[in-house]
Amino acid sequence: MTPSEPIILGLEGTAHTAGVAVIKGKEIIANTSSTYFPPQGGIHPREAAIYLAKEFPQLIGDTFKGLPFGIDKIDGIAFSQGPGLGPCLRTTATVARAISLRLGIPLLGVNHCIAHVELGRTITPADDPLVLYVSGGNTQLITFLNGRYRVLGETLDIAIGNALDTLGREMNLPHPGGPHIEKQAQTGQELLPLPYTIKGMSFSFSGMVTAAKKLIPKHSTADICYSFQEYTFAILAEATERALSCTKKKSVLLTGGVAANAHLQEVIQKVADEQDSSFYVVPRNLAGDNGVMIAFAGTHLLNTGEILPIQESQVKPRWRTDQVQVGWIS
Ligand code: AMP
Ligand code: MG
Repeated sequence: MTPSEPIILGLEGTAHTAGVAVIKGKEIIANTSSTYFPPQGGIHPREAAIYLAKEFPQLIGDTFKGLPFGIDKIDGIAFSQGPGLGPCLRTTATVARAISLRLGIPLLGVNHCIAHVELGRTITPADDPLVLYVSGGNTQLITFLNGRYRVLGETLDIAIGNALDTLGREMNLPHPGGPHIEKQAQTGQELLPLPYTIKGMSFSFSGMVTAAKKLIPKHSTADICYSFQEYTFAILAEATERALSCTKKKSVLLTGGVAANAHLQEVIQKVADEQDSSFYVVPRNLAGDNGVMIAFAGTHLLNTGEILPIQESQVKPRWRTDQVQVGWIS
């Protein structure tokens, strides 16, 4: 850390999590979050947005109560401008704009997917990696080429995290289902047949969820969880292997909420080993959505002078990873 490095406040709010963090350079000064759990079913965008609106003032207030300096000392306010659920994004953007206007500090509009990548590049030694980004709303194979993060492959329908959570609900596991499926899978024994859907370096999971649901009446939860993980993780491994053999990248970075899964880590580590690449994974406490990743990505935007005028700060629910011109990597 050098004295000149800016202090950035990062706000994450694309879906279920209100994340607030303060960083300076690579140092995490504060990091707190609050996550919405739907009373039943999946996440309802408006309900989640109301939750974020309630949580942000408290989280931001508490953050600065615990710091030796006030919010007026920050050099920039970064927020998740997209992609994500419209109502959640609008709530988060409103908070960020209010702080920016009130304090007269730069507003920084961060792409959420790129923030997951930048977090990994900041806190692990991964340099110019092939990224497998696995989360509740996105699943993509990403690498940097000619000024942009390129999407080499991605889900053609739902994200892996969404697939796990949907299947979990059908089996009456608590939300989010991902970690519960991981635990159940450890005692599964029989590999049940499921479709294996991969097209080049892209893949799809929604048909696999439908097929897995049909196994519920006849098979144990543990066997279904075990089988679903084996099939879906094999698909992710195959796509990663293909992307790695094309790009010859020297490192593989696993990031996003589902990166917390120990079996997925094992499977992707093996792919990296076989292709002589180093394997890195973001730590479990920063794998899911958080304010730190938004603040790190925001620092890059501030350093390259990409300050977002308020009048251009409308949210981008479908903002793609490959639409962002990346000025901070040469
Ligand atoms: P994110 O959208 O990046 O915040 O990630 C949230 C997603 O990560 C949810 O779909 C969770 O079910 C999933 N998740 C969290 N922990 C695990 C785990 N140990 N195994 C599988 N999925 C997980
Ligand atoms: Mg995410």
